[in-house]
Parts: sequence; C-alpha cells; structure tokens
Amino acid sequence: MRAVAAFTLLLVCACSGKPAAPYVREHVDGDASKPCLAWPKRSLTYAVDPAGSARTAGDTELAAIDAAFAAWNAAAATCSDLTFTKDVASANLVVWREKTCASVVPAGDACLTDGTCDTKYACWDDVEDTLAITTVTYSRSLGTLLDADIQLNGAAWLYTTVDSPPCAMGMPLETCVATDVQNTVTHEIGHLLGFGHTDGKSSTMAAFAPLGDLTKRVIDDGTRDGLCAVYPRGAQAPACP
Ligand SMILES: [Zn+2]
Repeated sequence: MRAVAAFTLLLVCACSGKPAAPYVREHVDGDASKPCLAWPKRSLTYAVDPAGSARTAGDTELAAIDAAFAAWNAAAATCSDLTFTKDVASANLVVWREKTCASVVPAGDACLTDGTCDTKYACWDDVEDTLAITTVTYSRSLGTLLDADIQLNGAAWLYTTVDSPPCAMGMPLETCVATDVQNTVTHEIGHLLGFGHTDGKSSTMAAFAPLGDLTKRVIDDGTRDGLCAVYPRGAQAPACP
C-alpha cells in the first residue's frame, strides 16, 4: 500500500520552551505510533529538471542543487554508506514550479479533482508562500521510502545562487541572496531522507528560512547525528521506539 505525505519548508517558527531535539524522524501518516520513514537502500539517485528556473542566473541553480546533494554525501561519508548519485533516469525529481496552478489550469480540468495539476501543468499547487515541498511515497506498513520529489516554488519566490550579500527585506534581486537554492534543497533533502522539522533555529531542518538565509547549506551536527543514526554504515535503519 502506498501513501503520499508532503513536507514543506514553512515560513513560521514552531518554537517551544523545550530543548530542541537534534533531529526528528517522520512517521507513517505523521502518526508517532506508526513506523518511521527510511530508505531501505543506500545508493540513492536524483534527477533535476534541466529547465531549472528561468528566473535564476544561467544554469547556476543546477550546480547549487548538486552542491546540496554533495553536502549530504560528505556528511554521510563520516559514518554511513548512503550515497546520492545524479541520474537522469532517477524517479526522485527536483523541479521548479514558476506559475501557480490557479493561474494556468483551465476550469473543469480533471486534475482539479484528482490532485495531479502540479505534474500535468508543471505548476505550484501548494500554499502560496511555502518555499518548497518534498513529496514522499512510502510503504504504510513498513515505512520504507520508495520515491521522493522536490518542488521549488518559483512562482512566489526568487531563487538565487550568489553567496552574498543578503538582499534587503522586500527587495529580492538576482545579485543578492534572496531564497538560496542550495539552502532550500539541502533542507528538502532532509525531508527526502525521512527527517522532519526540529525546533533548533540553527538546524538544517529548522522549519523557517528568512530572506537571505544560507545557514542550511551546512548540515549541522544534530542533523548529521540523525543521518548517522538512521543510515548507519553496514546496518539497517533502526526502528522507532
Ligand atoms: Zn521543511
């Protein structure tokens, strides 16, 4: 049985008074009594829509995506046998959506009822101000991940790839850091691997990303601990308690 769960990079802080967990695992159906999500294999692939983003300079966004996956590979090399390899035939896709579905889907289209407008029309069909969304497909009985797709909301946000300076509030430009591609994709890859949001503000898996944020390009110690714990070299992913 397959089910689809969507994770989003939200612009709100889910803060609490408790110490932040270094990492959080997602469960089947978001239900803590059900199995945690994890890939059953360690050699993972990804493909990037070669169209990239028409709003980001040249093909720099494609290199930024590769850098995000490379950051996870580097973190994994310390403790895990998990690897990402780019493969045009991969079912795990990274794509931009640069128009909202509301602006392009004809009234009465069948996709409006079966929820497939985003793929049919290559449009953004989620909450307007969400930066990106990772949709994972998994076994509901086992929690094993089967497929994951990352969509970047280029309809609402200008994705950039420069390293500095941060853009002024409300002034996103190609020449400053607005919504950083590598920052966003590094975070979304965490969702692809079965991790949820943490409350730690400096975590790669923090739920919010202010304009100009680059902190999530770096995989923080807590997130790397999660990667090492869930995908240990030569051993299966531990079941959740
Ligand atoms: Zn997120």
